[in-house]
Amino acid sequence: MSIIKTEHLTYTYSTGTPFEKTAIDDVNLEIEEGEFVGVIGHTGSGKSTLIQHFNGLVKPTSGKVMIDNEDIWGEGVDIRAVRFKAGLVFQYPEYQLFEETVYKDIAFGPKNMKLDEEEIDRRVREAAAFVGLKEHHLQKSPFELSGGQKRRVAIAGVLAMRPKLLILDEPTAGLDPKGRDRILGQIKEYHEQAGNTVLLVSHSMEDVAKYCGKLLVMNQAKVYMYDTVEAVFAHVEEIRGMGLAVPQISRIFIELARAGYPVPSNVYTVESA
Ligand code: ADP
Repeated sequence: MSIIKTEHLTYTYSTGTPFEKTAIDDVNLEIEEGEFVGVIGHTGSGKSTLIQHFNGLVKPTSGKVMIDNEDIWGEGVDIRAVRFKAGLVFQYPEYQLFEETVYKDIAFGPKNMKLDEEEIDRRVREAAAFVGLKEHHLQKSPFELSGGQKRRVAIAGVLAMRPKLLILDEPTAGLDPKGRDRILGQIKEYHEQAGNTVLLVSHSMEDVAKYCGKLLVMNQAKVYMYDTVEAVFAHVEEIRGMGLAVPQISRIFIELARAGYPVPSNVYTVESA
């Protein structure tokens, strides 16, 4: 069963102005429930704009977005309910923390879902523990925490809504390798819970090779490819032509990375022109 389906999805910024830009151009895509999908592509290829459609943050200029087989802009559809089902973690989500305490920040989403106090409390504690925050963090101000901890608070706030579709836009940007591995490990664990689908926008070929089953390659506002990691990396020259750093001896390195071996980072960071 598909969790995401788009039909002729098109999105244009600033229509009718000199800044007009079609960021998504006639995209037809179908993603099955339970996948862990890496979204890759050069800067400006349309990744962020595309994923923001999946929780109804932006409305298509034309075309359709179906989440869980429901046209989310169809008549009578409650877009708020779609947002609870499809949780979106923005880039640098810690900039959106605003409550006085970590607890209140994580509780914000579940509160909007109109859950009762007991359920909200359960979810806040569960999500906080899941991302590795301790009990004593909950009453602190988010601004007293380290960068990695703030990021985890922001992610917990989305997880507390228990979205069956979790979408993350570069969730590890700016974190050190330890913080990065920790967050990606938690995302992997969330994916492993029954039926959850994860979309991860990433610049790191190492990360997507290690964690994702499928890759969605965006190029110039279109989906260039949507296939298994192995199949996409087999097109190494084409992908490099888009300015992406793709490992050379792909299959072996994908397997090593998945088995948890440290893979020399230069293998994954060969930038092409
Ligand atoms: P990516 O996430 O792959 O870097 P984006 O979806 O952010 O790509 O951007 C796709 C295109 O849309 C780019 O050309 C970008 O400059 C343009 N764009 C993004 N946001 C806006 C905006 N708010 N107004 C106008 N153009 C935008």
